Amino acid sequence: RLHNTILELKGNIRVFCRVRPHLSDEIDAKVVSFPTSTEALGRGIDLTQNGQKLSFTFDKVFMPDASQEDVFVEISQLVQSALDGYKVCIFAYGQTGSGKTYTMMGKPGPSDQKGLIPRSLEQVFEIRQILQAQGWKYEMQVSMLEIYNETIRDLLAPNRTGFDASRAEHAGKQYTIKHDANGNTHVSILLLWMFAVARRSVGKTQMNEQSSRSHFVFTLRIMGYNESTEQQVQGVLNLIDLAGSERLSKSGSTGDRLKETQAINKSLSSLSDVIFALAKKEEHVPYRNSKLTYLLQPCLGGDSKTLMFVNVSPDPSSVGESLCSLRFAARVN
Ligand code: ADP
Ligand code: MG
Repeated sequence: RLHNTILELKGNIRVFCRVRPHLSDEIDAKVVSFPTSTEALGRGIDLTQNGQKLSFTFDKVFMPDASQEDVFVEISQLVQSALDGYKVCIFAYGQTGSGKTYTMMGKPGPSDQKGLIPRSLEQVFEIRQILQAQGWKYEMQVSMLEIYNETIRDLLAPNRTGFDASRAEHAGKQYTIKHDANGNTHVSILLLWMFAVARRSVGKTQMNEQSSRSHFVFTLRIMGYNESTEQQVQGVLNLIDLAGSERLSKSGSTGDRLKETQAINKSLSSLSDVIFALAKKEEHVPYRNSKLTYLLQPCLGGDSKTLMFVNVSPDPSSVGESLCSLRFAARVN
């Protein structure tokens, strides 16, 4: 019996697990459940594989009945800290179909199913209004990038051109959102976001899903200045919908798909290595091993804050992948 007990927050790195509900064509077999011990309440998850129960503990576990609002409540402090000048990264990790995009983006439109990106924007603009009354002025910049086959693409650029590694830190156009009191800035970011989402690379795999084969990186830079106190803050909020973490064999990849899968594996393991090194306070942090970690280097480590969602499917056929995801997350937690 494997037991992971991760009861304390380790520095500024946290891991939340979210189990999505069964979809209509899935059998409601209970392979994923809450642990029976009360001490793990809300933080533990049991996974049953071949009759064997495996237990994991994270900073928070969201079971299928958790709403988008329930999840957002738990991250709103992090969003707030970006306005206070912190650098924040929130990742969604998991196999294709586990609920990453649902968590990050949700269903578009003014619905209660909207995800963390639109909710975070709402919160930033709400709090901005309050802080403006206290003399703060803000400039915001937004960029939306995807990393596909270790190439960074600017989803807001007129032509989807790649960037080479030496330019990674400058990759992507910054869209400066002009100060405006009418709330139009919020709408313009949402429009840019929807435009970017529509341009993401998707490809078919044998999993019979339109799987996202790229990482999507949404970045909001917040520069605040208070004229009366002369205080200055520069915060960054990164929300990252990672490419599917499924293993090679399951997607039955060949050719281009094989190349994609290798690029994804490389960057996900680099991300894990970086977060692991940071959690262990190791001297050398291997940021340069992938475009993803290189791009996010300024926002990982130091006093920045990192949250990893590990998204899990409750479907019995996914139990192997779910276990891989939970083990991945337990490593970085
Ligand atoms: P991924 O981005 O990891 O490939 P998706 O976010 O696309 O997975 O989720 C797969 C399917 O499950 C989608 O149809 C999505 O709407 C649905 N889904 C995921 N999470 C939830 C949830 N918490 N509640 C309701 N439906 C969900
Ligand atoms: Mg997705």
